[in-house]
Amino acid sequence: MDFIRYAEASAALLNADLADPDALVAHLADRSWLHASVTPGDVAALQEFQVELRPVFEASEAGEVPVVVSHLNDLLALHPVTPMISDHDPSHLHMHVANRSASVAELLIGESLMGLATLVCDLGATRLGVCHASSCDNVFVDTSPNQSRRYCSDRCSSRANVAAYRARQKAAAS
Ligand SMILES: [Zn+2]
Ligand SMILES: [Zn+2]
Repeated sequence: MDFIRYAEASAALLNADLADPDALVAHLADRSWLHASVTPGDVAALQEFQVELRPVFEASEAGEVPVVVSHLNDLLALHPVTPMISDHDPSHLHMHVANRSASVAELLIGESLMGLATLVCDLGATRLGVCHASSCDNVFVDTSPNQSRRYCSDRCSSRANVAAYRARQKAAAS
């Protein structure tokens, strides 16, 4: 499995507006084979998971490594995964993090936690962050070489740059 991709999917899941099953289907736009399985129960479970997961990103942002580790371990225990070797492409056997009977929520939660756990083990526990732009609380995975990412998106980054520029101009004028 591609753990960076799953870790990034985890951030996207936390940032997603999952108000109802339609919103969850929209979030899964590129995984159409899951759409028919989406239930209101998945929406409720994922909303709860969003609340459980946010402190992991906040602790990582704050550099609190033991908190990241213990919180992720608690979530892994709370949401056990049942991995499976998939042969949907017989020439490329690979692992799926959930078996075929898993609900959409169980699948997304399993991918999310395995992605984050692997990321933490391979790249360290301080690679998750919360956007520094005011009025944005989106989270992100920082895969930049010098760990310098501060914003969830280019949009937030340029908005913050414009705000900083205006503040400097205002300070210079007064
Ligand atoms: Zn597969
Ligand atoms: Zn942002």
